[in-house]
Amino acid sequence: MDYETQRRLMCELGRRLWERGWVAANDGNFSRRLGEGLFLVTPAGVSKGFLTTDMLLVVDSQGRMTSPSSYRPSSETPLHLACYRVRPDVGGVCHAHPPAATAFACAHMGLEEPLLGEAVMSLGPVPCAPYGRTGTAELPAAAAPLMADHDAILLANHGALTMGPDLERAYWRMETLEHTAQIHLNVRLLGGGVPLTQEQASALRGG
Ligand SMILES: [Zn+2]
Repeated sequence: MDYETQRRLMCELGRRLWERGWVAANDGNFSRRLGEGLFLVTPAGVSKGFLTTDMLLVVDSQGRMTSPSSYRPSSETPLHLACYRVRPDVGGVCHAHPPAATAFACAHMGLEEPLLGEAVMSLGPVPCAPYGRTGTAELPAAAAPLMADHDAILLANHGALTMGPDLERAYWRMETLEHTAQIHLNVRLLGGGVPLTQEQASALRGG
């Protein structure tokens, strides 16, 4: 894996999230599994819209930095490391606060109704994890039981978490998640939608 390419991609995806208004101030964080028990993570206290490759940090599976830096790893690094522990297939993790998905998280409502074909195929049902205080071990503990079976999870009263085989696909899932949340909101304005049948949903999942 070309580490420099991964660093540039992480900065680019931060810019996209910030431009979309899915992270305010210093919110949000990403990570990439590098192999050999190492992970590339975003720093704390920095706008993700203006990351530069030198700000990014490499940590081990305990979240310890592998070389000195004036930056420190995001306080949500343990949330990312929990994803990698639970899911050996996951290579990238994205955490942000996109407004529509976060509104569902604040209402403790998952996006589990199969309304949208694309969401059924690329996200599956999106549950809402119980509340866990940000920046503490409570947050990974609350979300971890859902990680094995879901690529996208809402975090109660907080935001959203997506996983993928690499960082770009984790980011795409965040796009699909927020788009799906916006559509679910509009469907509610219309008085409710007509969900896909179990057969229709299962055909989309390839089963
Ligand atoms: Zn957050």
